[in-house]
Amino acid sequence: MTNKITIAVDGHSSCGKSTLAKDLARKLNYSYIDSGAMYRAVTLYALRKEISGVNAHHIKQHLDNINIHFETNEQGLSAVYLNNENVESEIRMKHVAESVSRIAEIKEVREKLVMEQRKLGKSGGIVMDGRDIGSVVFPNAELKFFITADIDVRTERRFSEMKEKGLSISKKEVESNLTQRDKIDSSRKESPLIKVKEAIEINNSNLSKEEQLELALKIVQETIDKLS
Ligand code: C5P
Repeated sequence: MTNKITIAVDGHSSCGKSTLAKDLARKLNYSYIDSGAMYRAVTLYALRKEISGVNAHHIKQHLDNINIHFETNEQGLSAVYLNNENVESEIRMKHVAESVSRIAEIKEVREKLVMEQRKLGKSGGIVMDGRDIGSVVFPNAELKFFITADIDVRTERRFSEMKEKGLSISKKEVESNLTQRDKIDSSRKESPLIKVKEAIEINNSNLSKEEQLELALKIVQETIDKLS
């Protein structure tokens, strides 16, 4: 058995990356980091300072005042903290989702967060999900997944999730937010979302959560066997 490996999980918005990454981490007894939550937390800070839209770059002047960390509660659920405040619920709201991709385009924001992500993963035994984990954050990760699903399936899943949380949003708004974020994330200059050639692609449109996990665990085991 080899030492614990690093697993990168990249892919489109709302395609089940974090569900898979969390489940993998739990099964493997690895830590899980939601890198998107870090971009969302910076975005929330920016919105509270009324920094958005064409002025998004003003966030650069505030980066030294932004501290982000994760805590895991007794149920094993991870939550993101912005300057010691638990913002896990607030960062999932519509206003944050609508602004996050503009904040995530900014080079200085990415540099800060990538540095912190690398620190969090320096000992291996980590599953991190995001957009640039396999390409930029951990280019040497032993295993890289690229997850996707059809836009209709992703819209339906995110819509149900938001409805369950009592958030009022239409399906059309959800679809347009996902499409817009994918477009910005894939075409930006800094660390665009790409599928690196060594990544293993899973399109989970027709897979249940359990089937996806089973498939991914098989791939993890094969990777570990090859390395040992
Ligand atoms: O993963 P999640 O949908 O929460 O990510 C929110 C946004 O954060 C993405 O749409 C993207 O703009 C940005 N992001 C990023 N790089 C990452 C993770 C997220 O640019 N590694």
